[in-house]
Amino acid sequence: EIIVLRLGHRPGRDNRMTTHVGLTARALGADRVVLTNGASGSRDTIDDITERFGGPFTVDLTEEPNRLLQTFEGTIVHLTMYGLPVQTVEEEIRTVTQNEPLLVVVGAEKVPFDVYACADFNVAVTNQPHSEVAGLAVFLDRLFDGSELEREWTGADRRVVPKETGKKVVPTDPAGEE
Ligand code: SAM
Repeated sequence: EIIVLRLGHRPGRDNRMTTHVGLTARALGADRVVLTNGASGSRDTIDDITERFGGPFTVDLTEEPNRLLQTFEGTIVHLTMYGLPVQTVEEEIRTVTQNEPLLVVVGAEKVPFDVYACADFNVAVTNQPHSEVAGLAVFLDRLFDGSELEREWTGADRRVVPKETGKKVVPTDPAGEE
């Protein structure tokens, strides 16, 4: 199981980025995103997308992100520009997460030092400052080695038909199949 934890959500200011962390986690192969309490609007938007475009994908809210970090049984990866380059640790992370859950932590504002300390891997997608959405996308794509792009979706009520030009969306039947 791959879970993404979004730390440090500032209600209002971070709404859009938190939503995009969740949508990116969903689209690129994670099973679940955990948001902090002020992010119920983002949760609703992500749930709505999952209802329409399929899953499985779960959104949880937590009052105690630190407790999740302290008690998580599995591997914790913290994405940070100060960490080790993703290309040097991806293989090891892929190996250790074959048999146990992975918690991928991304921040918003300054991330407290204890997160660096409790992470099994502090991982950088370049050592340049950029965005939690971009960092998460590249990390998940590296982790899955591109296979997340072929994923099948279940329970969708619609499906996009890829087109060279224009937009085509077709309904699926109630079981989520065409
Ligand atoms: N300045 C903050 C700090 O020092 O903790 C980080 C702010 S940054 C806008 C928000 C989040 O984006 C970070 O917590 C991290 O998860 C992610 N991020 C930004 N640049 C990154 C990079 N080069 N590699 C991996 N993650 C990155």
